[in-house]
Amino acid sequence: MLKSISGALVFFLCLSPIAAAQSPSPVTVIRAGVLIDGKASAPRRDQVIVVRGNRIESVSAAGSAAIPPGATVIDLSRATVLPGMIDCHTHIFLQGEVPEEGGYDIQLLKYPLAYRAARASVSARRALEQGFTTIRDVETEGAGYGDVGIKQAIEAGYIPGPRMFVVTRAISTSGGYPLEGYAPEIAVPKGVQVVDGPVEARKAAREQLDNGADWIKVYMTHRSWLDAAGNLVSQPTLTLEEIRAIVDETHGWGRKVACHAYNGIGLHRALDGGCDSIEHGLELDDAAVAQMVKQGTWYCPTMSVYYNDLGPADTPQGKRDRKRVAVHGPSLQKAMKAGVKIVFGTDVGGFPWTQPIAQEFPHLVEFGMSPMAAIQSATLHAAEMLGMSGQLGVIAPGAYADIVAVPGDPLKDVKDLERVSFVMKDGQVFRKD
Ligand SMILES: [Zn+2]
Repeated sequence: MLKSISGALVFFLCLSPIAAAQSPSPVTVIRAGVLIDGKASAPRRDQVIVVRGNRIESVSAAGSAAIPPGATVIDLSRATVLPGMIDCHTHIFLQGEVPEEGGYDIQLLKYPLAYRAARASVSARRALEQGFTTIRDVETEGAGYGDVGIKQAIEAGYIPGPRMFVVTRAISTSGGYPLEGYAPEIAVPKGVQVVDGPVEARKAAREQLDNGADWIKVYMTHRSWLDAAGNLVSQPTLTLEEIRAIVDETHGWGRKVACHAYNGIGLHRALDGGCDSIEHGLELDDAAVAQMVKQGTWYCPTMSVYYNDLGPADTPQGKRDRKRVAVHGPSLQKAMKAGVKIVFGTDVGGFPWTQPIAQEFPHLVEFGMSPMAAIQSATLHAAEMLGMSGQLGVIAPGAYADIVAVPGDPLKDVKDLERVSFVMKDGQVFRKD
């Protein structure tokens, strides 16, 4: 069996250069009025981007650029052109469930997987429409390895969608994830793979990696509440031994671990355990910030989702929700000041996919990030975290041709990033208004 596979591979490798010679890659030229290339600290005016096949071949000033004969020319001379954006924290298998419609639980209890996958394919399309040409989708919420399937369908060209980095099922502990609150006698599904002990933790990571996880996602905190003094407290989940087993296994595969962690014990275990990215990080204390700088840990703050659906102000949940928002901004400011590496992420799916993903940008800018830095958190830096420096998140020779455009000037008003009018992914135009 092995022999015949390698034979087929050699045959394919021999064929492909001939096929390439017979049908030369199409060439597209984009005229950019203003170009934010992802790398430079300032935009450039009147640039010409040459795209050959699915790669950017050259970027040069309009006067000096030679237009290859036979090229398709796309005129974006009245727009701001930037690299395809990257949302580092999405959930295509969540739809911003509202309690009145059954909330989270009904997804796992009543909807067939195919129904959820169909909706996930719509979410994926929504990301692409909005100029997010890459997403790191951080768990399927009980839909198993559905993200691997959606990713395959996108790559095979059956459905439109962004490039996907997937984590599959995610990992937490007993008592560390919904579904919850059912009679103990009734077995209900969980939104994650539950592990207890370092052996189970390592095994879950192995299974998920074996089944296509590009990253591993771990929940290091779960419930959160206010203590008597009004401080935000969150329940830690995995022990240090458990998270260390997962990180050790995952790093051995050359992959990375994303840790959902709000604050306190769980946050510190995540960092001591060698987590690669802290998700949410609502309340980063000084020691955590210092450790993140030292270890090069990424911070994916996901501000937007915490501004959605605050509980009523006079309830314990409402007070807690407001406290979360109140500590989040200062954490971001602290991280920026210390030089923590920050990536753009929204937790979309936690709020409906009908809302704009780019709503995250104004939150980042509100707390002192420059619009250019905010854009780079969704391009250059996100690509770096994903191990795709030079390939994604930049408009530069050799990079994948993931290119978007917005009317207006997002460096003046980042809300302009909600008005994406042009999307090219992998050299193919998906949207042109
Ligand atoms: Zn999330």
